Amino acid sequence: MTLIINNLQEIQQKIKKVATRVGRQVEDVSIIAVTKQVSTERAIEALDAGLVQLGENRPESLLEKRATITERATWHYIGSMQTRKVKQVINEIDYLHSLDRISLAEEIEKRASHIVNCFVQVNVSGEESKHGVLPQEVIPFIEQLVQYSHIRVVGLMTMAPNTENQEVVRDVFRNLKNLQLEVENNGYAHAPCHDLSMGMSNDYEIAVEEGATYVRIGTALVGNERRDS
Ligand SMILES: *Cc1c(COP(=O)(O)O)cnc(C)c1O
Repeated sequence: MTLIINNLQEIQQKIKKVATRVGRQVEDVSIIAVTKQVSTERAIEALDAGLVQLGENRPESLLEKRATITERATWHYIGSMQTRKVKQVINEIDYLHSLDRISLAEEIEKRASHIVNCFVQVNVSGEESKHGVLPQEVIPFIEQLVQYSHIRVVGLMTMAPNTENQEVVRDVFRNLKNLQLEVENNGYAHAPCHDLSMGMSNDYEIAVEEGATYVRIGTALVGNERRDS
């Protein structure tokens, strides 16, 4: 079993290298440990290694870990959110990375007891299999969100297409960065949109080069116990 602390050091070094290359500060990149494929024990090891941000993509596993883990942690919900599950999880998380439709915003408004930090998920590549708002719909979508007082749009999120072609991946991240700047420059009070959630185990270095402020790393950091066993 590889130690999380070793993985983390390697990832931090790689992030530092690419960040320096493009004139960014490492402090501006937060690592979310995606623990969806691992046990609660392994998530605790991640926190012991110094990580503080945890990402989950299913209500059941989020709630289970949330109930067991007593260490300080920031909780990110990174998977697509079914409307009927909002009630169970919305007050248990710090960030939602998958706001992609008005019906979801409505349900959050109804169920949230605090302002929820949300990333609008964007389907940059337009693949039919992917969740997310299409790029040309992002601005009108965000403008509609002004009516929901419990939603703050802190940034944009995307998943790159599953391809070996790094230039395709880079284009997707660059397009998301341009969209984020456009929203940010519009100066919406409900949508400061300073952040960019992009980059996973296979593409986080490209994402950091292109401006990611949150990378979501599972396999390369905490492993994948479901696959290993
Ligand atoms: C699983 C998942 C990740 C992490 O994927 P790895 O390839 O294991 O790093 C990141 N983001 C989302 C939305 C995920 O579902």
